[in-house]
Amino acid sequence: MQFHLNGFHPGDPDVQPAAEPPHSADLPETLDVLIAGSGPAGLVLAAQLCQFPSINLRIVERRAGRLMMGQADGIACRTVEMMNAFGLSERLLREAYWVNETVFWRPDKDARHCITRTGRVQDTEDGLSEFPHVIVNQARIQDYLLDSMRLSPRRLEPDYNLEVVAVERDEQGQYPIKVTLRRTDQARLGELVTVRTRYLIGCDGARSCVRTAIGQELRGDAANHAWGVMDALAITDFPDIRLKAAIQSASAGNLLIIPREGGHLVRFYVDLGDVHAQDRERVRNTSVEQLIATAQRVLHPYTLDVKEVAWFSVYEVGQRLTERFDDSLSTDGREREPRIFIAGDACHTHSAKAGQGMNVSMQDAFNLGWKLAAVLEQRSEADLLRTYSQERQPVAQELIDFDKEWSAIMGARPKDPEHPEDGGVEPAHLQDYFVRAGRYTAGVATRYHPAKLTAQPTYQHLAQGFGIGTRFHSAPVIRVPDAKPMQLGHIAQADGRWRLYLFADAAHTRLHDLCRYLVNDPDSILRLSTPADADVDSVLDIRAVLQQPHRSLRWELLPELLRPAKGRYGLIDFEKIFTADSAQDIFQARNIDRECGAMVLVRPDQYVAHVLPLDAHEQLTAFLRPILKTPNGG
Ligand code: FAD
Repeated sequence: MQFHLNGFHPGDPDVQPAAEPPHSADLPETLDVLIAGSGPAGLVLAAQLCQFPSINLRIVERRAGRLMMGQADGIACRTVEMMNAFGLSERLLREAYWVNETVFWRPDKDARHCITRTGRVQDTEDGLSEFPHVIVNQARIQDYLLDSMRLSPRRLEPDYNLEVVAVERDEQGQYPIKVTLRRTDQARLGELVTVRTRYLIGCDGARSCVRTAIGQELRGDAANHAWGVMDALAITDFPDIRLKAAIQSASAGNLLIIPREGGHLVRFYVDLGDVHAQDRERVRNTSVEQLIATAQRVLHPYTLDVKEVAWFSVYEVGQRLTERFDDSLSTDGREREPRIFIAGDACHTHSAKAGQGMNVSMQDAFNLGWKLAAVLEQRSEADLLRTYSQERQPVAQELIDFDKEWSAIMGARPKDPEHPEDGGVEPAHLQDYFVRAGRYTAGVATRYHPAKLTAQPTYQHLAQGFGIGTRFHSAPVIRVPDAKPMQLGHIAQADGRWRLYLFADAAHTRLHDLCRYLVNDPDSILRLSTPADADVDSVLDIRAVLQQPHRSLRWELLPELLRPAKGRYGLIDFEKIFTADSAQDIFQARNIDRECGAMVLVRPDQYVAHVLPLDAHEQLTAFLRPILKTPNGG
C-alpha cells in the first residue's frame, strides 16, 4: 500500500481524501452514472466508480437499508482476488469459513436407509489461486463494499427507499436517460422523483425493471429448481458438520451442508426438486419445520437438533439469460451507442448448487466498472463499452451450460447397486465431476476470446502460464528495494489502470531497449496516452520482474522508467522492480521464456490482454491505440 505521495497525512491511510463537492443528501438533477440496486453487482460497480472523484454517481436501492442476512454465501477464489484489488481480502479471509475439503456421503451399501462417507477431496486444486474458496454471508460482502465506498473520495452511501419505476432514452443532450424513481418509505410512499443520467446500470436483480425497460427478457428453462435454504445453529453427531458435504440419501432426498463463518453456524440446502406450475404454491410454502424434518431424515442415522434458525428461504431459480446486457439495439432494430446496461441477476440466473450467482454478478460489475470510468474520464472512446456485453454474455452462457450439467449430476438419485436398472448416478462419478469442475466453481475458467481487448495468442509461448483472455494468475516475487516477498498480482488495485509486466530477458538488453523506447519514442503508447501533467504510470503502470537474486541486483542501474519520480514533490516510486522468489520462481511457475523474456499486458480488471516479445515495441502501441485515447497526438 502506498501513501504520502503528495504530502504527509496522519491517520488511517484507507480513508482517502474527500472529493469536492461533498456527497449531498439530495439526489442531483443530473448524473454521470445511476446504479439501480445495491446487491453484490451494484455495490462492486459503485465501489469501483467511487475511486474516481470526477464521476458524479449515485446508487439507489428500494430496501430501507443494508441487507442484514441471507441469500448467497459462496465466495469463489477469483472473487477473493477481486476483493483484494479493493483492499478487502484480509478482512474477508479473517471472517470467512475456508472451504478446504469437500466430502461425499451416500447410502450405505449394507444398510441403504443409513448414509456413509464415500469420498473426501481437496476443494480447490493446488496452485489454482493464492486465495482459498471461502464462505461468508452475502450481507457481509455487501458491508465490506459499503465501507469501501464510504472511505473513497466520494464518500458514497446508497440512496435507500428509492426504486426505479420507469426509464426513457430520448437522445437529448449529454444526459439522454430519464429515470423515474418512486419513494418506498412510509413517510413519502409513492412520491416520484426524476433524474437524468449519462449512463444507467440495472443491478436490480432477477426481476429487473431496467431489463424490461430495454426490452430484454430472461430466457431459458421453464421449470425452476427449488432449494430450501436455512442458516442454523444445531447440535449434531454428524461428524462432517464442519466440512462442505454433498449428501445423497436413498429415499429422503439430497442435502448440501455448507459450514459458515464463526465456527458454529451451518447452512443446509435441502433439495426440493423442479417446480412445475401445478405444485408451485406447495413448494413455495415449504415451512422451516419441513426443511428441518427433511434434513433429519437425510442425515439418518445421525441426529440433528436445530436450536436456532437465523434465516430461511425457499430459493427458486431457473438457469436463464438475456441476449444482450445493454441497450445497443434500439426498438427499431438499429445498432446504437449503449447507454443502459444490466448486470448480475438482472441478466442471468444460476442455480444455487454451483454457487455462481453472486460471484458472476460481481465479475460483471468489475468488467463494466473500469470501462465506464475510462470513458467518463476521457481515457477511452465510448465504443469500449460495447465490449461489456460482448464479453460477459458468452461467459454467462458458458456458466449456465456448466450449471445445468452440474445441477443434473448433483441432483440425481444415487445408483442402487441392487437395482442398477433404476438409473441414478454413481457416487464416484459425482466426485470425479466435482474435481474436474473445480476451475469453474473457483471462478478461474473464464476466458475472453480474441477481440478488441484480447489479442490473438501469437506469442503465448513466451509466457504460457499467463493465458491471454484469462485472469492474471499471480505468483510470488521479491520486491527489490525493500526485499519484500509478495504476490505480483497484488499490485493490481481497482484503480482503472492498465498494467504492463516486463519479464526481463537474461541479458537485460531487450528490457533496457524497451524502456528507452517507451520513454523516448514519440510513437510509444506510454507517451501518447499519458496526459502531460499526470504521473508517468497514471494510465499504464509498468513493472519489471528480473531473474537474478535480489541481493545481486544494482537497482540504481536499472532504467529510470522503473524508478519514476512522481507526485507533487517528485518522490521516487520504489515499488516497480521485482525479482523471482527462489522458493517459487515465477519464470518457472508461469513458464516464461528465460532467454527472451516477455511483456504481459493486463487489463484493469486483471485479465491478460496480450503477451508480446520485449522487442515488439510497435505491436504494443498498435494493440493499445484503439483502446486508449492519445491526448498527446497520434
Ligand atoms: P441482487 O442481490 O438480487 O440485488 C438486487 C438489488 O436491487 C436488491 O437489493 C433489490 O432490493 C434492489 N432492487 C430491485 N429492484 C429495484 C428497483 N426497481 N429499484 C431499486 N432497487 C431495486 N444464491 C445462492 O447462491 N444461494 C442462495 O441460497 C441464494 N438465496 C437467495 C435468496 C434470495 C431471496 C435471493 C433474492 C437471491 C438468492 N440467491 C442465492 C442469489 C444471489 O443472492 C444472487 O445471485 C446475487 O445476489 C446476485 O446479485 P445482484 O446484485 O445481481 O442482485
